[in-house]
Amino acid sequence: MHDAGLPPLAFSACPLDRGEAIRRDAAALAALEASPDSRRIVLRGGEPLISHNGRLVRFPLSDPRFAPERELIFLGLEDGTALFAGETADSSDPFEDSRFSDPRAAGMRLDTGEAGIFAFARSLLLWRERRSFCSNCGDRLQEAMGGLRRDCTACSAQHFPRTDPVVIMLPVDGDYCLLGRQAAWPPRMWSALAGFMEPGETIEEACAREIAEEAGIRVDQAGTEYVASQPWPFPSSLMIGLIVPARSTEVTIDAAELETARWFSKDEIAAMLAGEHPDADVPPKIAIARRLLEVWASR
Ligand SMILES: [Zn+2]
Repeated sequence: MHDAGLPPLAFSACPLDRGEAIRRDAAALAALEASPDSRRIVLRGGEPLISHNGRLVRFPLSDPRFAPERELIFLGLEDGTALFAGETADSSDPFEDSRFSDPRAAGMRLDTGEAGIFAFARSLLLWRERRSFCSNCGDRLQEAMGGLRRDCTACSAQHFPRTDPVVIMLPVDGDYCLLGRQAAWPPRMWSALAGFMEPGETIEEACAREIAEEAGIRVDQAGTEYVASQPWPFPSSLMIGLIVPARSTEVTIDAAELETARWFSKDEIAAMLAGEHPDADVPPKIAIARRLLEVWASR
């Protein structure tokens, strides 16, 4: 692992034991659902209920507040205690020291680990919402593996939650790196180029293709360096952060993807990270793009 001195990225470092053996044992799962020790977290419209101290609010399963709309999803064990998640439709106001938080803001407000639990729960719940019917035969699906799988009783197809890999990368040329801007972004904001991987691609190939498509830059695939990855629960991406040596420097942007792209010097990036650049900003701490810049600028 690179740069072990840096703190985990938001939404990563989920501390749960995901309880594979329990998921396969319906009786064990039922016992945990009946246990007064078990707890559940709650999301409403994809927003987690969080307390003022940076933690997800945990309810006993028998607590009627913000009751789940559907079966609970089993997240795993924390210190031996079962933790579940449910989406609620209860529109009551939260109690005084808690609130439903915008999901991106939750990535910053929640403690490390707590944001990881939230990311896992949010991706699973959103996947279930969109996966009621079998894509093979059209019959209704049933919950399996505590929510980590959905099964079709008509054709026996098993459906697993999606994770969509996204490459996000910093092409570098000596003391310069390339950043882009999308027209929809706030003024001043620049970030790393990124794009979804396609079927039949390696990470290196996706990285090279995206940089060529968006900015017309050729890179040295063999020099692709993995820096970090980050679960991104909007709804279920995995960001794969890379630094890659450029083989060309003339920028030709794809206007459908980017408003502009340009090379920044290491001094400029240092100023942007410090919030001291006269007309350019980098993404907030929650974003892996910022981590790529921190890692590269510190070299
Ligand atoms: Zn089916």
